[in-house]
Amino acid sequence: ENCLTLQLLKMNSYTPGRRSRFNTVIDPDLVERVKHMLLCARNVVITCHVSPDGDALGSTTALCSVLRALGKDATVVTADCPPKSLQFLPGVREIITATRSPERAQDLIAKADLVFCLDFNDLKRVDRLSEAFEKAASRRIVIDHHLAPIISCDILISHPEVSSTSALLYIFLWQAGWTRYLNRSSAACIYTGMMTDTGNFAYNSNDPDLYLIIHDLLRKGIDKDNLYKLVHNNASQSGIRLNGYAQYRTEYMCGGRMALITLSYDDLRDFDYSKGDTEGLVNIPLTIPEVQWSVFMREDSKDLVKISMRSKGVFPVNLVCEEKFGGGGHINAAGGEFHGSLSEALSYLLKAIPDYETLFE
Ligand code: 5GP
Ligand code: MN
Repeated sequence: ENCLTLQLLKMNSYTPGRRSRFNTVIDPDLVERVKHMLLCARNVVITCHVSPDGDALGSTTALCSVLRALGKDATVVTADCPPKSLQFLPGVREIITATRSPERAQDLIAKADLVFCLDFNDLKRVDRLSEAFEKAASRRIVIDHHLAPIISCDILISHPEVSSTSALLYIFLWQAGWTRYLNRSSAACIYTGMMTDTGNFAYNSNDPDLYLIIHDLLRKGIDKDNLYKLVHNNASQSGIRLNGYAQYRTEYMCGGRMALITLSYDDLRDFDYSKGDTEGLVNIPLTIPEVQWSVFMREDSKDLVKISMRSKGVFPVNLVCEEKFGGGGHINAAGGEFHGSLSEALSYLLKAIPDYETLFE
């Protein structure tokens, strides 16, 4: 193990002054500090936000695999279960989730001497695990691409200009000299995160760095065409009917610049809803050129409505979600929650719309 740890430090890091391969350069000092912190760490926990998506799962499982290759005892611990559509990702089945194994999750966090927080910027985002992480004596390293982080930590690698945490993690590994520890499986995890956070490279995807990274991942042997199929081609008849029903009933307001999709608890029951069935639904109204703001409200239980928003251009859905729904996210993709029924959430939103109408382009 000592040999591995020595190697870990000796690995050629990217040094300032040398021209980097990537446009995005992580402060080399931070990279070195992460390496030193790892040197002293034995038990490492890696975590991401609640309701983990492709980027959260791709980045955490890839980092876990690399740290294990470096001889560390690393585990991914999440607040709740990964969606079915991402269970194929290598390493996802070994994730310890607090909903399924609460004691194991708490125990791992308490015993960790180092915690990596990937793809979130506020400890509230780990939901039921936030207290455990707050209480833990471990060091904390954050690697993330959300705006304005408010998480306390020892090392913060925050690059909101990078479209996914997975791409940022790759750049970190490259600077650390550790991409050699990526294999085909962990490369597939990184690719999946990059793909899902850019809508299959349809937005936030003009950065040439992305294609240099994809080049490297293909050389590691990933099958990108198959990864697309695994993530997206897993619909069910009832799921497609549910989406059709929701699209048919979508309301267009603000002179056609806003779209509002709602699904009630009863709708979900009638269409035999299962988690993941409405993935991507909120994006569909944006395919209408006039629509700049799309809102999806899903009544997950009689007193909790999950809110998802997407936008085009300058309309800041993160602001709306922050100010009105206790959430946040990115300028064009954000989410939050409403505690109450769907009809209460609806009248609350309708009252709030005038506050934001001036922000349309
Ligand atoms: P989605 O609409 O796919 O659930 O979430 C889109 C993005 O919004 C996520 O990547 C995340 O950054 C953000 N987001 C979603 N839900 C919440 C939430 O409840 N709180 C916060 N702070 N951000 C959220
Ligand atoms: Mn992300």
